[in-house]
Amino acid sequence: MITFEEILYWLREKSPERLNELWRWADRTRQEQVGDAIHLRGLVELSNHCRRNCLYCGIRASHKTVSRYRLTLEEVLECAKKAADFHYGTLVIQAGEDLKFDEAFITEMIREIKARYPLAITLSLGERSESEWIRWHEAGANRYLLRFETSNNLLFRAIHPVSPDSGGRFGDRIAMLKTLREIGYEIGSGVMIGIPGQSVTDLACDIDLFRQLDLDMIGCGPFLPHPETPLGNLRQDGNEWVSRILDQNGLPAFRFPVAEEPVTGTNEMTFKVYALTRLVCPQANIPSTTAVVTLGGKEGRQNGLCRGANVIMPNLTPTKYRALYEIYPDKSASFESAEETHQKALENIRAIGRFPGSGPGGRVRGDQKEEMPKI
Ligand code: SAH
Repeated sequence: MITFEEILYWLREKSPERLNELWRWADRTRQEQVGDAIHLRGLVELSNHCRRNCLYCGIRASHKTVSRYRLTLEEVLECAKKAADFHYGTLVIQAGEDLKFDEAFITEMIREIKARYPLAITLSLGERSESEWIRWHEAGANRYLLRFETSNNLLFRAIHPVSPDSGGRFGDRIAMLKTLREIGYEIGSGVMIGIPGQSVTDLACDIDLFRQLDLDMIGCGPFLPHPETPLGNLRQDGNEWVSRILDQNGLPAFRFPVAEEPVTGTNEMTFKVYALTRLVCPQANIPSTTAVVTLGGKEGRQNGLCRGANVIMPNLTPTKYRALYEIYPDKSASFESAEETHQKALENIRAIGRFPGSGPGGRVRGDQKEEMPKI
């Protein structure tokens, strides 16, 4: 079993030859544990309304110039039909924390999708109430994604401000993940890589926490600065990062010590995280995320899939809304149709000699990996 010190060692490693060993180790582990199937999860960005003010996110409540949208139930069902037509096993429904999509609406949406299509459903709707989570699970939702973003508590608190109009307290996401698992969901979490103030030791602790939580799904990507957000608009003042954007009290919205050994949000650092995550959670589902494609194009995606990842989440959101779900700038696939995004995903899979997974592609346990179909 890889130790905490080894995780730190690899996060610090710079030599391309040595890193090739890490990539090979992670890829071999992925092959042995979950096989060569790449699971496709159709992503639906349900709403960009949000009550929160996360300092990094382009759809935070205080970002006034972004046009807000909500999908109708019919539009969601059209996305679900596409997912089924493309033979995806899972629909991932993600949104800002939008309370207009209340318990009843989400419940009906889940029931309607489940009645029509053989899709697993993953929800990514932020911090909602336990009673909502229970109802949605009863209605048929299978999995829940809630990134803890960083295991450094001080940094977590600094980037997730609490105020009455942003929805009150931010909860303990670790406790929430445990609750979600008790309800019966497969649970997914993850972090951003290269948050200002994040240290290499923090990142090693994040990876160690993936192991302790025994996560079923782990999604990580580089932090991508959005200039209209407090975290995307910083200056360095001595040993501190200070935001040029002010909070409602007229103070810098972010002020945090520069890490002694800072994490850089590059694709290489992200691949180290994918590889180490595969080693600590060998049977987890790990996506090569949209953020690595945004930084590194299709090569970024393919590298991710050869360094630990085994999942792609092609975007199915109607094109007219995609650019508005602007959690960070220049998000990949913002101007494509679902068909184009789908074809690109298939090309990426073929290019590296793997095959699309069939069925829901839930977490494997024991020796259940899928073999390449014989043609
Ligand atoms: N409201 C939901 C979904 C948030 S969007 C929730 O809170 O869970 C999904 C993920 O996008 C977030 O968890 C965050 O890790 C990532 N994200 C947001 N802004 C980002 C940025 N500027 N750069 C990189 N990733 C970002």
